Amino acid sequence: MRFVDEYRDSDAAAEVATAIGRITTKPWTIMEVCGGQTHAIVRFGIDQLLPKGLTLVHGPGCPVCVTPIELIDAAIEIASRDDVIFCSFGDMLRVPGSSRDLLAVKASGGDVRIVYSPLDALALAKRQPAKQVVFFAVGFETTAPANAMAVYRARHEGVDNFSVLVAHVLVPPAMSSILASPNNRVQGFLAAGHVCAVMGYTEYEPLAQCFRVPIVVTGFEPLDILQGVYLCVKQLENGRAEVENQYARTVRREGNAQAQAMVLEVFEVAGRTWRGIGDIPGSGLALRPRYASHDALQRFPLQQLAQSRDTECIAGEILLGGKNPTDCPAFGARCTPEHPLGAPMVSSEGACAAYYRYRRSPPTHYLPRKGGGETNGAPR
Ligand code: SF4
Repeated sequence: MRFVDEYRDSDAAAEVATAIGRITTKPWTIMEVCGGQTHAIVRFGIDQLLPKGLTLVHGPGCPVCVTPIELIDAAIEIASRDDVIFCSFGDMLRVPGSSRDLLAVKASGGDVRIVYSPLDALALAKRQPAKQVVFFAVGFETTAPANAMAVYRARHEGVDNFSVLVAHVLVPPAMSSILASPNNRVQGFLAAGHVCAVMGYTEYEPLAQCFRVPIVVTGFEPLDILQGVYLCVKQLENGRAEVENQYARTVRREGNAQAQAMVLEVFEVAGRTWRGIGDIPGSGLALRPRYASHDALQRFPLQQLAQSRDTECIAGEILLGGKNPTDCPAFGARCTPEHPLGAPMVSSEGACAAYYRYRRSPPTHYLPRKGGGETNGAPR
């Protein structure tokens, strides 16, 4: 398959892994921002191919994981109304709120539906004019253009029974927050290729300069990730801190101007609370006032929402690269995909779900490695 098979070529991957081993002279810690990259790393055993001391830590780029519990509770309350059809991507249904999840609302008779696009939810609103259709607009810059388009079309086509519950978050402020933390151990980033396909990477250039960190825009296949690591290590070893683009087959420096214009038409930058992490100024998107009539929070004034409860979930530390899923005492015991205590065990981009799926039994997806050099433990 074009643009897939050639990026899973084990011989090519082995060559890049060997090249990384050749240029690495010191221990380095690199964060992959996106949960999709985390899954690829764990699934294909990419971290096991790296030289000892070169550590990949997992970042906050799982949109389901960082959606604050207050918004999950709001979704549950709205979805419980008789007049509402609540639409969401599938993995939001299992994310625990303060007392239950959206799946429990569905089980008790709520009309909660899985859709694959916000435009599907908009079409549903047109077919069901007697119902209020609400779409849970979750995600990073990647999903914002489609969500913006749905709201734009609802307004301009007069679909008054369509609204969105907005939980959008932005990547650069989160990276800035990680780098500014006194506990930071991240020395370089693999930036999320799909986010940059929309936004370009000019926003990352001041971050690289200000914090003196290399940032490599990176794709999602094994060879992409290994090449991203190689470019990042090369910069670290040479004392450079620049933005480089490994994912040039998809990403341009300026991004997708049409998609950015649609996002700017509908959304404005706002503060956002990240689940497990806390408030990050300017790290979210909110509907502009001219689209406020499509804001579910304004359409359905909510009762006082429960505050976040304390749990044993250490998702915040995992999302900031401080700990690994297997450091969590609940991992695989009290917390499983069937009975999750936190969002990272639920989401298809969650780090805990990746470790649960691919690391609990002997690995079967490792890319073979040619040649020598001590590694983090992959079978040769
Ligand atoms: S294993 Fe479960 S409880 Fe532990 S950090 Fe992951 S999601 Fe939270």
